[in-house]
Amino acid sequence: MTTAIPVITANHRGASRLRGGHLWVYRSDLVPPVDVPRGTIVHVRDQRGRSLGSALYSSASQIAVRLLSGEEISAAQLPSLLRERIASAVQFRRQIARDTDAYRVIFSEGDLLPGLILDKYNDVLAMQALTQAFDREDLRPIVLDSMAEHFPQASVFERVDPHIRELEQLPPRESQLVRGDRSSTIFTMNGVRFHFDGLTGQKTGAFLDQRENYAAAARYGHGEALDCFTYQGGFALHLARVCARVTAVDSSRPALEVAERNEQLNRAEHRIGEIEWIEANAFDLLKDYATAGRQYDTIVLDPPAFAKTKRTVPPALRGYKELNLRALKMLRPGGVLVTCSCSFHVSEAEFLGMLGSAASDAGRHMRILEKRGQAQDHPILLNVPETAYLKCIIASVIE
Ligand code: SAH
Repeated sequence: MTTAIPVITANHRGASRLRGGHLWVYRSDLVPPVDVPRGTIVHVRDQRGRSLGSALYSSASQIAVRLLSGEEISAAQLPSLLRERIASAVQFRRQIARDTDAYRVIFSEGDLLPGLILDKYNDVLAMQALTQAFDREDLRPIVLDSMAEHFPQASVFERVDPHIRELEQLPPRESQLVRGDRSSTIFTMNGVRFHFDGLTGQKTGAFLDQRENYAAAARYGHGEALDCFTYQGGFALHLARVCARVTAVDSSRPALEVAERNEQLNRAEHRIGEIEWIEANAFDLLKDYATAGRQYDTIVLDPPAFAKTKRTVPPALRGYKELNLRALKMLRPGGVLVTCSCSFHVSEAEFLGMLGSAASDAGRHMRILEKRGQAQDHPILLNVPETAYLKCIIASVIE
């Protein structure tokens, strides 16, 4: 028996977007009436009835339609399509993930699995459904069975972001183990060790998208280092392998407590530089340290996303400039700045413009060593600009 798949009509703008290779249609680009059950697979057509493919529908999100395939597939074909996409995502990671047992296995749109995130921390997998479709009771087992096939030894837990569930109008749920018995482990990237605990006690995780930038920072870092917005010590612990002294700052005490435990883990195995963890507002600390005339050889700035919408780009750029200006003034000649932005709405060009203006205000000439982005396990889908969000510029002071 075949179940009829509902059809959704996209207006000209929506159809052009899909034809241009994007995967999304906004609700405002759908032709009413749209009477489709939440989280279901739909066929998308243009106003002349021409097929645009198959998509997953969300009744709550402004991104109402996320394209899954350019073909009109049946409900019965969906499981095998998902299994193939997952296998391809896993295969790609096996090619590119080097020197790490932690990486993002599935990156939503970047793996043509819109709405699904799956991270691997050594032998623990963390799955997150961002949309109604991947929360469906009949789709989740497909993902879980694929994981059992590709990572037979790993435990799997479901990570719940209450805010996302609310936005998608999904019933509240607790994070929970869905396979195996482990939700905590120790993972290693670039030879640096970290605690991971998904469920009990202190929640930990990692910004896996910075993995390759940590290694890059350690290639240039030297002398005395300052890591602002350190979280659980990602950059600081990498820098401690090459720097004599690292000062690491975050406003979150729980994050710093994990950072200290991570430090102990690494110190037990290697000689690493001194690390001082400071709980403070990084803006205030940079100001105080600059006033006090402190100087560094290496400074990392990795703040949270300042621009969550297009409208907040101008204040975000002012925030970035304040941080970068202070950091640039504190670098010794030859000093290295590693400066990041994870705001999708701030483009690389805007970020470089801000940095250039900060450098000229600081009276410094900077040499760009590397223009970097997110790690390769967070693939950028060429026609979906939203999949490229992280900027990481490494520059050194010429004088
Ligand atoms: N560099 C980190 C990730 C940083 S995420 C890594 O590689 O793992 C952003 C961090 O900024 C969070 O840990 C958050 O607690 C911290 N934060 C946010 N606002 C802050 C502020 N004003 N001062 C210091 N830390 C802040």
